[in-house]
Amino acid sequence: MTTDAPTGWIRQDILATSAYPVEKVPGGTLRLDAMESPFDLPEAFHRRLGEEMAGISLNRYPDGSASELKEILGKSLLGLSPDHLFLGNGSDEILQTLFLATTGPLLLAEPTFSMYRILAEMTGRTVVTATLSEDLDLDVEALLAAARKHHPSLIVLSSPNNPTGRDVSEETVDRICREFSGGVLVDEAYFPFSGWTALSLQRAHPRLMVLRTLSKMGLAALRLGILAADPKIVAELDKVRLPYNLNLLTQRAAILVCREFLPDLESQVRSIIHLREDLLRSLSAIPGVCPLPSSANFLLIRIGGKDPSVVARALADRGILIRDVSRHHPLLAGCLRVTIGTATENERFAATLALILKGTP
Ligand code: PMP
Repeated sequence: MTTDAPTGWIRQDILATSAYPVEKVPGGTLRLDAMESPFDLPEAFHRRLGEEMAGISLNRYPDGSASELKEILGKSLLGLSPDHLFLGNGSDEILQTLFLATTGPLLLAEPTFSMYRILAEMTGRTVVTATLSEDLDLDVEALLAAARKHHPSLIVLSSPNNPTGRDVSEETVDRICREFSGGVLVDEAYFPFSGWTALSLQRAHPRLMVLRTLSKMGLAALRLGILAADPKIVAELDKVRLPYNLNLLTQRAAILVCREFLPDLESQVRSIIHLREDLLRSLSAIPGVCPLPSSANFLLIRIGGKDPSVVARALADRGILIRDVSRHHPLLAGCLRVTIGTATENERFAATLALILKGTP
């Protein structure tokens, strides 16, 4: 049976767009495209997780307010009480909730994480933008000028920024909060690899929200995002949140991680930081490749003389998936983004890239 496109009743703007590309890749592909950790948790965690899962009641709804999880996340990761936390099925869901709950234009500093724009459009928000500086740093003057011009309700910053890997500075966030009267969100998805956080500014600026995720530190499969915000903001977002947005399996697994396995995650993060610096060095040695310094678990690399989409395709043909971002924004012309893998994976990537750029079949 064939069906017609559902025109006439599905929103026109939805019909006109396409879904966020999540590629299904053949087994054995080296995935360096999604900023996952290359390390799984130790076997001891999987064993303990199995024991935990054996004891849960699947016939009952989970704790809708995830109170035990908030308590332990607040204590072990953020130094905040549970009333400052809002949790989501990944930080993407928190962004969606925040965009649904706010009104007026949304100000982005582009190029940045593409989901901001996608979610903003899905939730019927107008997007206004400021452009990063030529060297891909946040241009605070341009951002504040755009804020004065467009009167957004919310400014969304990514620090470190995806895909540039650059941190925003404390002085910059402080200045934005002083000169702009709406909500300010700092998305710190890559915080573990950077170490800089805007959290300490929250006391002075209660409109400042900090977004974190467990996805980049080895737990992408759990889908757990964390917003640290003033309890009054959390209370409003709770009205928009679906009642049981965090399933029980995620809640129990994350509690177990916080109780017993945080040192494992932290040591994996330290390894990834070392691997990032090693990869930066080996890529810098390849003629025509210029990797930018990064505070995240990925590198933005500029390729001279070859079309990045051709290079990305050649890598994919050899079983290595990275992200071609060269057409995402004019400032990213010539750029590819690669996630940090294990030492062996990084060596394979660098060696294959060098061969492709040399024109060796
Ligand atoms: N923020 C940024 C800046 C990201 O790059 C990503 C994932 N690529 C997310 C949020 C979403 O992460 P999550 O898995 O928590 O939904």
